[in-house]
Formats: sequence, C-alpha cells, structure tokens
Amino acid sequence: CFISLEGGDGAGKTTQRDLLGRWLTDLGHEVVLTREPGGTDLGRVLREAVLHGDDVDPRTEALLYATDRAHHVHHLVLPALERGAVVVTDRYLDSSVAYQGAARDLGPEEIRGLNLWATRGLLPHLTVLLDLDPAIGAQRRHGTPDRLERESLDFHIRVRHHFLDLAAADPDRFLVVDAAAAPEDVHHAVRDHLRPMLPE
Ligand code: C5P
Ligand code: MG
Repeated sequence: CFISLEGGDGAGKTTQRDLLGRWLTDLGHEVVLTREPGGTDLGRVLREAVLHGDDVDPRTEALLYATDRAHHVHHLVLPALERGAVVVTDRYLDSSVAYQGAARDLGPEEIRGLNLWATRGLLPHLTVLLDLDPAIGAQRRHGTPDRLERESLDFHIRVRHHFLDLAAADPDRFLVVDAAAAPEDVHHAVRDHLRPMLPE
C-alpha cells in the first residue's frame, strides 16, 4: 500500500506521516516512512541543490525533483512495496504538478507526464491532501526559510488551488483534510479513510 501526503509548507505533512507510521506499525505492518525530495543518499544531494542552489531556473528545478523521484521510486519505494510494506511519503508527484507545473507555469500536463515517466507510472493508492491557508502555513514554519519558502504568498496560493483541483479531478485517489484542525483530529480522519484500504 502506497500513501502520499501532500499540501503546502506548514500543513503538517511530516507530523501526520509520523502519526500514521506509529499506528500502522502497531497494527503489525512493515512501515517505510520517507520524503521527497531527499529520501535516498543521492536524493539528499539533489535536495540540497534544488533548495539551496542559487540560480536554479524552473526547468532545471523540475528536472531535479523528477530525478530525485525516479531514484527514490526505483531504489526505495518499489522494493518496499514488493516486500509488502506500507510506504508513506511526505510529498510525491502531485507536489511537482502543483509547484512546478502550475505555480511555476511549466504546464501541469507536461510535469505530470515527466513524472509518470520518471516513476514508471507509479501512483499512490491514497493521497492525503492537507489543505491549509498558506498564510497560516507560513506562521507555523520554523527555522530559516529555503529558497522556495521565500516565494510570494501568491505563489503558495496558486499551489494550494492547484492541489485542490488535482483532488477534485481524482476523488478516488485523494482524501482532502482540513489541516487547520488539531493534529490528532486530522490523524483520525486519515485513519478512518485508510482502514478499509489496508491489506490483511
Ligand atoms: O516539504 P519540504 O519542506 O521537504 O519541501 C521543501 C521545499 O521545497 C518547500 O519549500 C516546498 O515548498 C518546495 N517544493 C517545491 N516543489 C516540489 C516540492 C517541494 O517547490 N515539487
Ligand atoms: Mg519545508
């Protein structure tokens, strides 16, 4: 079972991933918790380049994320799924479609195509969209903002709206949760949805 968590910065993706991990482990599943960009050793190099490199133009940025994703899927996600593990990733290809495709104007269809090629067409069984007003997300963030977190509020509003469009277009794969709610409440909403989807 392959689950992705999506949403803007500060929506609580990592918190929800870790809560899901604990619950799934207690149920007896082998659980692999991971992230993009940066889920593998090569991915950590790519993450540093894409988040902190200066002068990264939009196409280079899109290709760096896609490269990270290709490597992540090939070396970590697919082998784990083949073993029967439940894989929960903090971001997956919908992030690229929303950030690079829509907010950076490279074209959602082109970016989706690039990433389906990179991943051999692997889509999650469930994508949880943690939907949050970007102004609230910005307040929740801590630490030094990376290159992309310094983007304008308008950029992050475009990302949010594109995530919602993606969810509306594929309601079988997406669960949209109000990420302004308490983390425990968000977690219970995700659990209730996921329970019937889990393998025996
Ligand atoms: O979620 P995480 O903090 O790891 O994301 C790192 C940064 O990369 C964030 O600022 C996020 O907005 C940005 N990002 C992006 N395009 C993606 C994925 C993440 O601009 N496809
Ligand atoms: Mg971040």
